Amino acid sequence: MFTSKEEFKEAFIDKLQTLFGQSLDESSQTDRYVALSALIRDIINKRWYQSNKQYKQCKEKQVYYFSMEFLLGRLLGSNLFNLGLTDVCSEALTELGIDLNELEAVEQDAGLGNGGLGRLAACFLDSLASLQLPGHGTGIRYRHGMFEQKIVNGYQIEIPDNWLKDGYVWETRKADRAVTVKFGGNVRLESQGGRLVAIHENYEPVLAVPYDVPVIGANSGTVNTLRLWSAETNYFDFPSFSKGDFLKAVEHKYSLEATSQILYPDDNYPEGKTLRLKQQYFFVSAGLQSIVRRYKRTYGGDPSVLAKIYEKVAVHINDTHPALAVPELMRILMDEEGLGWDEAWNATTKTISYTNHTILPEALEKWPVDLVQTLLPRMYMIIQEINERFCAALWDRYPGDWERIRAMAIISDGYVHMAHLAVTGSHSVNGVAEVHSNILKKEVMANFHQFYPHRFNNKTNGVTHRRWLAKANPGLAKLITQAIGPGWLAHPTELANLHRYARDPAFQSSIKAVKQANKERLAKYIKDKMDIAVDVDSIFDVQAKRIHAYKRQTLNALHILDLYNRLKADPGLDITPRTFIFGGKAATGYYLAKRIIKLINTLADVINNDRSIGGKIRVVFLENYNVSLAELIMPAADVSEQISTASREASGTGNMKFMMNGAVTIGTLDGANIEIRDEVGDDNIVIFGLTADEVLSYYKHGGYNVLDVYHGNPRVKMIVDQLVNGFLPVSPDEFDSIYHSLMRANDEYFVLKDFAAYAAAQEKIDRLYRDQSRWQAMAINNIAFSGRFASDRTVSEYAIGIWGIKPVIIRES
Ligand SMILES: *Cc1c(COP(=O)(O)O)cnc(C)c1O
Repeated sequence: MFTSKEEFKEAFIDKLQTLFGQSLDESSQTDRYVALSALIRDIINKRWYQSNKQYKQCKEKQVYYFSMEFLLGRLLGSNLFNLGLTDVCSEALTELGIDLNELEAVEQDAGLGNGGLGRLAACFLDSLASLQLPGHGTGIRYRHGMFEQKIVNGYQIEIPDNWLKDGYVWETRKADRAVTVKFGGNVRLESQGGRLVAIHENYEPVLAVPYDVPVIGANSGTVNTLRLWSAETNYFDFPSFSKGDFLKAVEHKYSLEATSQILYPDDNYPEGKTLRLKQQYFFVSAGLQSIVRRYKRTYGGDPSVLAKIYEKVAVHINDTHPALAVPELMRILMDEEGLGWDEAWNATTKTISYTNHTILPEALEKWPVDLVQTLLPRMYMIIQEINERFCAALWDRYPGDWERIRAMAIISDGYVHMAHLAVTGSHSVNGVAEVHSNILKKEVMANFHQFYPHRFNNKTNGVTHRRWLAKANPGLAKLITQAIGPGWLAHPTELANLHRYARDPAFQSSIKAVKQANKERLAKYIKDKMDIAVDVDSIFDVQAKRIHAYKRQTLNALHILDLYNRLKADPGLDITPRTFIFGGKAATGYYLAKRIIKLINTLADVINNDRSIGGKIRVVFLENYNVSLAELIMPAADVSEQISTASREASGTGNMKFMMNGAVTIGTLDGANIEIRDEVGDDNIVIFGLTADEVLSYYKHGGYNVLDVYHGNPRVKMIVDQLVNGFLPVSPDEFDSIYHSLMRANDEYFVLKDFAAYAAAQEKIDRLYRDQSRWQAMAINNIAFSGRFASDRTVSEYAIGIWGIKPVIIRES
C-alpha cells in the first residue's frame, strides 16, 4: 500500500508506461483513468486472493445475495475511499497536475439496475465487505444497462447504455468457471436402480460465463465477490451455415446470447416478457450450480453432506425475481446429487430467505403456466410437486376452505405466483420498513403469516453512509469529523453526537456554508447542461426517483402549477424563492409516467420564461438520473420530497440519502419516512396527508369521491382544468392521461385528496426556512439521527437474524 505521495506518483507513472508505453504528458484522461484503476486493482487483487483463500480455510458460512439488479454506479472513487487512499491519491495527482474528480468522471456508471432495489443490493455489498462479513453478490452482466435518458422537447428519449464499449476495468472473466444452463426440451422420469431419475433431452444449452467484480471493504482486509453471469455460446449453427444460410446461423448464436443483452427498464412495472423469465432462470441456475460446486470442493460431495448445505451456505433472494432458486436448488440436490425430496426440501428451505419489496398489485410477479412449462420443463415439474404438497398441508390445516387454498396456491388461474413460491420455499420473509412489514403480515400476506407465523420479520432498508455521505459530501464529512471525531465512519450511530451542535451558531453557519457550496456545484451543473440560471439562495426542493404514479410527482407538479397561479394573481405574494428540481426515468412502456415528465417540462418552460413572477420559482428537470447524478444532487438539497401515497412505497432509500445530507423531508407517513420521523422527531420533519390505514381502508371499503374535492376546492378545480383547457402550450389532449387518472379513475393515488394538506405543508416549509437558525438546527438534527439508516445496521440485522453468518478477519498474508 502507498504510504507516501512520492511512492504513489512513481507507481502511477510507471503504470502509464507499462500499460500504454506513454509518458504522463502524452496520456489521455482515459489512459490515466485506466492506469489509476489498474494500480488500485493490483492492491485489491492481493487482498482478494487472501480473502478467497481464508474463506476456504476457515470454513465459515457464506451468504450469496441473489439479485437481478446491482446499481453500482462508479467504483473508482468508492474503492479508493474504502482502501483509505483518497487523500494520498488525490494529493499526489494534484502534484502531477491531474484532478482526481475528473478521472473518476471518466468511468461509466455501472447501471445494472432500475432504482431503489438495485441500489440497495449495491449498498449491501459495500456493508457486507466493510463489516468483514463473508457475503457475495450473484447477478447478471447485462451488455446494456439502464438506458440513458435524454429530454427532447420535454419528452423522454431512451438511448441504449453501451457501458462496456471501452471495457470494464473492475471485472475479471472466469472462463474456466463457466456452467451450462438448459432451456426448453423435454423431461422424462426413468426408474434407475429403484430411483426415479429425471432425464432432460432436446434442450437448448446456454453457456453462463462469470465475470467477477471485487467488493472492497472499508478499512478491512476483506474483498468479497460480485459474480455477474454472461450468456455466451460455443455452439454455432454449422448445419445452416454450410447450407449457405449464414444469416440463420448468426441469428441462432445471437438469440442464445440475447439472454444477458439487456436490463428490463421497468421498475415496479414488470412486462412479463419471456426473455425476462429466461434471464431469471439463467442467473439463478448458474449461480446455484457454482455455489454447490464450490461447496462440494470444500466439504465433499456425499449426499449426506449436501443435505446440510444450509449450515455453510445462505442464499438470499432480492424480491421474487430470483424465486426460481427454490425449484432450482431442489433440482440440483435431487437430480444431480441424489437426495430424496424430503431431504432436499429441508436443505432448500433452510438455505433460502426472501425479501419482499412491494405490495403494488401490478408489480407482483406471475408467469403463465404454459410459458414456464415450455421454457423450463423441469422447473415446472418441481413447482407442481411443491404446490401439491403445499396445498395438501393447507387442506390438513384448513379442511374444506377451498377459497383460502386457491388464494394461497403457488399455481392457480393458469399462473405460477412467484411470491407464493418464495414464501413457501424459504425460512425467512422480510419486508423493508416497519409499516411495510406490518402490511405484509396483516393484509397482503395475512394468509401466509397465519400459516407460517415465525417466518415473517422486518429489516428496514439502509444506504451506505460511506458513498452517500463521506464520499458524496466531503465538505460535510470533514465538518462532522471536526465536531465529533472520526468514529462515525465506522459507527454511524455516533452521528447522534452532532445533536449537541444543533443550536450552536458557529456550527450552524459552517453547515450552511457547506450546503451553499454544494448548491453552487449543482447550479453550475444545471447551467452547463441546460443553460438555466438558478438562484442558489432559493430553496432547493428536490424530487429525484423513478417516475411512477404512486410516487406522485403529479402532486408536486400540480402544487407548482397552483403556486404559479397564485403568483400570477398576486405578484406580491410573499414566498421564499424556490427551485423545484426533478430527476427520474420512466419505464419505456409506462405511458402515464412519460406524460408526467412532459408535464414537468411544460411547467418549466412556462414558469422559467415568465418574467412577471420575478424569478421567485423555477423548475428544473435534470435528465438521466443515475447514481452519479444522485451523488451530486443529494448534498445540494434543502428539501427532500417523499410524497408517495401512504402504504405504496415499501421503504424508499432516497429519503435516507437526503436526510444524511441534511435535507428536511416533506413527506407522507409511508415506508421508512415513518421511521425517519421517529428518529428526528416531529419538529425536524414536515409530515402531511392520509395514513396507510386510511388509504388501505379506502381501497377496501371505498368512501372517496374525487368530485367532492374537485368541486369543493377552487384551487384544485383550477389546476385540474388547466391540464386540459388549453392553458398549457401543448396540444389539447397532451395531458388527457393525467387528467383521466385523476378524474375518471377516481384519483387512484389520492393526489387531489392530499392536495390541500400538501400545500399547507409546503407553506410550513417556507415559514421554517425563513427562520435560518431553526432551519439549520433541523438540518443538523437530520444528519445526527440518520445513523440508523446506514446499511451497516441493516446488514448486521440480516447477518444475525436471517443468514447466521459472522465476521471473518482477513489477515494480510
Ligand atoms: C437511491 C436511488 C433510488 C431510489 O430512490 P427512492 O427515492 O427510494 O425511490 C433510485 N435511483 C437512484 C439512482 C438512486 O441512487
